[in-house]
Amino acid sequence: MTAPQTVGFTPGERNVFLHILTGCNLSCSHCYINPAEHGSAMLSRQQMAAWIRLFSDPARKSNLIFLGGEPTLHPDLVSGIEVAKQCGYAVTVDTNGYLFHDFLDRVDPESLDYLSFSLDGPDPQVNDPIRGHGVFEVCTANLRRAAARGISTSLIYTVSSRNIDHLARMPELVRDLGVKRFFIQVIGLRGKSAGGGEKASPLQVDPQTWLRIVPEVARTVAETGVTVIYPKVFLDRGEPFECAGNVAENFFIFPNGRVYQCPLCEDYPIHSYEIRDNELVKVEGLSEDRFFKLNIAEGCVMNKLLQPDTITYDSSGRPRHRVSCCLLKQRLG
Ligand code: SF4
Ligand code: SF4
Repeated sequence: MTAPQTVGFTPGERNVFLHILTGCNLSCSHCYINPAEHGSAMLSRQQMAAWIRLFSDPARKSNLIFLGGEPTLHPDLVSGIEVAKQCGYAVTVDTNGYLFHDFLDRVDPESLDYLSFSLDGPDPQVNDPIRGHGVFEVCTANLRRAAARGISTSLIYTVSSRNIDHLARMPELVRDLGVKRFFIQVIGLRGKSAGGGEKASPLQVDPQTWLRIVPEVARTVAETGVTVIYPKVFLDRGEPFECAGNVAENFFIFPNGRVYQCPLCEDYPIHSYEIRDNELVKVEGLSEDRFFKLNIAEGCVMNKLLQPDTITYDSSGRPRHRVSCCLLKQRLG
């Protein structure tokens, strides 16, 4: 059993998060997809191939993550995976588990490095009120089918106040499903989770609850040989903070051509780049990269602007923790 390792970013590595459509068959209560900002289009097969090639750089290790909406709703996902593999990417598909268009029968397991399933509870009683009636059964059954086909699977658990008390029951399920990687994510106050019917019960968890529960569950899962990755979120005093927008190569690409470097900026028209005629064009004016350069005691600038409730201060007005947001992750195993 190794000590948690903080994995910020791997120098020189590139991560391409490609939303190939925004449509989805589900309507999860914390969904961050925002059609007003991200569009409702679906990339054509040709566009998808061109955009995958646009971000490909054979000189560096590159990861491409296919996202939606639900990416398996796209009839040409399998062809996109093949293009990405030819370009040399490590390829992941993030799915809600429904696996449309006979995905498992059509995809070549050799072309897919990971198939990641989202599940927000250890049983239907916890998961389904968040993700939808019947989702737990479909998701876990398809995860087992994928593993039986020789595909490496991951599980993503998005922690909120609605399910953090059930996280401790996940190690058993993770082991039973045979997943190779377990991601614990913290809910972001974006899209629907920022308002609407959730006001009576805020979805965010406070630092004490997070620190009390998450590292311990991560350790328990890692002891079974599964790789666990979870966000550091609350940095200790003196721990270095760097904004990923300054030091990492992350691209979050939407079907309307917007390209962000920061996941917290996605609800605003402050993207750094746009894809126009299959070329990457820098956006002039007030774009997200202006914020990355601000050095503040609270750590992540966008978190301070958009989710100030996550920050608490001591009696001298110093933040108790700096918030690292998207960059620093803890890795076990
Ligand atoms: S599966 Fe994903 S894209 Fe679909 S509603 Fe849920 S969170 Fe949103
Ligand atoms: S979430 Fe925060 S740390 Fe990450 S890129 Fe955005 S501003 Fe930087």
